[in-house]
Amino acid sequence: EARTSDAIYRWAGETPTALALIHGAQRLTYATLVDEISRAADFLRRQGAQPGDRVFIVADNDLVAPVLMLGAQAMDAWPCIVNARVAAAEMEALRNLVEPRVVVIASTSSREAIEFAGRVGATTVDAGVLGQLSVATIGGYTRELVEKDAGRQTALVLFTSGTTGLPKAVMLSHTALLRIGAALADVRKVRPGGSYDGGAPLSHVMGICTLMSVLTGGANLTFTGRIDVPDVVRRIANGTLTHLSFVPTVYTRMLDHIRTNGIDMSGSRLEYISSGGAPLDPTLKAEIERLFRVRLVNGYGMTECCPITRTRPDRDYDHDSIGYAEPGAEIRIVREDGKDAVPGEIGELWARALGMMQGYYRNPEATGEALRDGGWMATGDLATRAEDGEIRIVGRKKEMIIRSGFNVYPAEVEAALNRHPGVLQSAVLGVRRPDGDEEVVAFVQPRDEAAISESELKSHMRTEVAPYKVPSRLLIHSNLPLGSTGKILKRQLLDELLRSGS
Ligand code: ATP
Ligand code: MG
Repeated sequence: EARTSDAIYRWAGETPTALALIHGAQRLTYATLVDEISRAADFLRRQGAQPGDRVFIVADNDLVAPVLMLGAQAMDAWPCIVNARVAAAEMEALRNLVEPRVVVIASTSSREAIEFAGRVGATTVDAGVLGQLSVATIGGYTRELVEKDAGRQTALVLFTSGTTGLPKAVMLSHTALLRIGAALADVRKVRPGGSYDGGAPLSHVMGICTLMSVLTGGANLTFTGRIDVPDVVRRIANGTLTHLSFVPTVYTRMLDHIRTNGIDMSGSRLEYISSGGAPLDPTLKAEIERLFRVRLVNGYGMTECCPITRTRPDRDYDHDSIGYAEPGAEIRIVREDGKDAVPGEIGELWARALGMMQGYYRNPEATGEALRDGGWMATGDLATRAEDGEIRIVGRKKEMIIRSGFNVYPAEVEAALNRHPGVLQSAVLGVRRPDGDEEVVAFVQPRDEAAISESELKSHMRTEVAPYKVPSRLLIHSNLPLGSTGKILKRQLLDELLRSGS
């Protein structure tokens, strides 16, 4: 019977003293990790959790989250991981959605988490290696059926990033997690002794991909509570880190930090670096590759279905490619009329991947919209496929802007804005006008506050893209809001804009 923790038990037998999870002075070897998992399962049982119950875990990015996750799995409960940095009201909404028997709040630094602990009436409990946790036990919720075949048992509930609306609760089975781990350990060449940064949050599928591939490959993962850019840069510069996987905004921040402080990166011993979760700007990609002398692999996937594609590390890309289907993944590009698109034609990307969700928890309507006949996931992303199978993402269906009858894809406009040397990052969205037309609005975060003007950016854009793609409004924003994953929160930008009445 296949379970998420299989590889941990294997390594605990083969290399018991090898490090698995690290956070500050806390260092769990594969052997001690096995012990901590059963202790965490006992702890959850003592709090009242039983098989089929949901266990709601609010955590910073440290080793509490994976140990509790694996502990909950060991007793056939369903761990639901939420990032301690989301708003307390959002934690509350997600809790109401999944109705957990046990709520564990493992963050002492997040004000939101502390507020949420108050809302659910949590009390402090000593949990040994896991430290002081705030725990609430809630009665009256139904238990889910426990599948006899462990592979089909729900191993994890992950919430989507909430880029396009309220986050949805994605159910992933043990089999899905194991397949993700095996596939990624292989393509990323994760090896015993390899050292990964755990900066991608475990509340997000990228963090889960990292965790699963590291544990499958017998490597180790270092957590820093939250993504600590100066610390990551320091560990790259001194040659400690071998593998990285982040959303693009983290690479943007790393580059900015290295440049501003003139840090020498010649000591880097990075072997494999990848980006995913949002469009990777070709300029950013080129700069990171020049700096670290390793290809930055762009991977595409989603909470519901991953991994789907990846660029080849042995090839140069001067455009925003997401590469080719991963081993075990299949792709269709489907037109509006349901027919398959011809090469170069834009359509919705449908995928089948190793890590397919079982469905959205308690949302059969959304599940039916996403999961189609034949086991295909309709991703909501628009893409093209070339003759040789190379895929490019054009944008999200929901984000496509229709301006005076022309389609404008935010990612293309953002890439053009980012080519201006004064731009650190940007976010483009469509704003509906009273006459029904949509306006292209850009939020731009400059590298240096004073050094950029709206008119200068406009003339830059006129040389870069067709006139209808030039944003009618360019708003300088000194700090674009990032979600707990590190993605730019476009929904919040739109809210800000609508609230300001413009
Ligand atoms: P929600 O579904 O709640 O609106 P979300 O789609 O951002 O949020 P995730 O599952 O974290 O939640 O992200 C998956 C999405 O991220 C994909 O559907 C795609 O739009 C985008 N994405 C992921 N990887 C890439 C990539 N390499 N290039 C471009 N876009 C990507
Ligand atoms: Mg999504």
